[in-house]
Amino acid sequence: MFEVLPHLAPDPILGLSAAFREDTNPNKIDLGVGVYKDEQGNTPILSSVAKAQKVLLDKETSKTYITPQGNQGFIDGMLSLLLGKNSPVLLADRVAAVQAPGGCGALRILSELLVRCNENGKVWVSDPTWANHIPLIGSAGLKIETYPYFDKASASIRFDAMMETLRKTEKGDIVLLHGCCHNPTGADLTNAQWDEVLEVAKEREFLPFIDVAYLGFGEGLDEDAYGMRLLVENLPEVIVAASCSKNFGLYRERVGLAAIITEDSATRKIAQGQIQSIARGIYSMPPSYGGALVDIILADEALNNEWVSEVNEMRDRMKSLRAMLVQNLHDNGSPKDFSFVNDQKGMFSFLCITPEQVREVREKHSVYFVDSSRVNIAGINQENVETLAKALVSVL
Ligand code: PMP
Repeated sequence: MFEVLPHLAPDPILGLSAAFREDTNPNKIDLGVGVYKDEQGNTPILSSVAKAQKVLLDKETSKTYITPQGNQGFIDGMLSLLLGKNSPVLLADRVAAVQAPGGCGALRILSELLVRCNENGKVWVSDPTWANHIPLIGSAGLKIETYPYFDKASASIRFDAMMETLRKTEKGDIVLLHGCCHNPTGADLTNAQWDEVLEVAKEREFLPFIDVAYLGFGEGLDEDAYGMRLLVENLPEVIVAASCSKNFGLYRERVGLAAIITEDSATRKIAQGQIQSIARGIYSMPPSYGGALVDIILADEALNNEWVSEVNEMRDRMKSLRAMLVQNLHDNGSPKDFSFVNDQKGMFSFLCITPEQVREVREKHSVYFVDSSRVNIAGINQENVETLAKALVSVL
């Protein structure tokens, strides 16, 4: 039966990781897959998470199924974290939400919900966007269009062109926005630009679909929520897909949240039933473990404080790596001004070099990152930064 199926090309990022593993160059550098790494190149379990695991080990008395919506403590904690403790939409009982298997799971079930609302639904995504958005949203059956977002030549956001396209959207269209730390470019809207997006959303009546996978990695947990909270508090309907993979370092545990902000409390009940029935039809209920850890951390003041300082530490480290890279490129005679890297946010940056240059730096210097020129900033460290800067300068 299966012979009728075509061979698929391997995922470019996973292929890159395999090539990196096979490379015998002792000075090889991996800036590919998006996981946070410390100075030693490891992705350790956060200390707050390690402590929560001990608490959970003592506390958990059963492995029976959890409810289809997931752990309610996790959901409440995450909604306060994302929307703010006293968010008016929470007080007004306007938020339906389920725990989901990762940000990917959240994106997918929300896409399924959108298809149930309108099987001809259209989602506008930024050009470029995270590659996996396309299959996650497209497989649910939604049509995908792009709005201009980033200009490689000037290494900046094409805000006017973006707004021009958003002004052409139709009522009921869906616009996917990265809550913060845009993947792949690292270029985020300013607060003033978010204010303008709100105005066009009101005018055109599109539905914002906010993907927030790096909260806390840009400027801070509250600062990074500015755009999301602005839209949530000022529009009748918004949907949010959140991931705990990066900021809690819970990648393999698959923890995320799908939230639907509805016009009123009655509609919230409809949305809650629908999203649970979608989850039931795909995976029944989410995995328990990671959500239970996040619940423990967010509910305990000391653990929460420790987690916040760990997020701050990861963010500060990535900011200093950006500065270090820019300085080293300059010191090694780069003909290109890379100072824009300092203004970008989160774990990724577009270096804005050509695919040919990316391939050359990989082949000649064993520096691995995707052809788009997206680099994982957390893959840089004190030891490899000079080698990296020299390799980059040599291909410019
Ligand atoms: N959205 C974006 C923009 C991402 O970069 C990621 C992770 N790479 C996700 C969502 C989903 O992450 P996960 O499913 O691992 O939680």
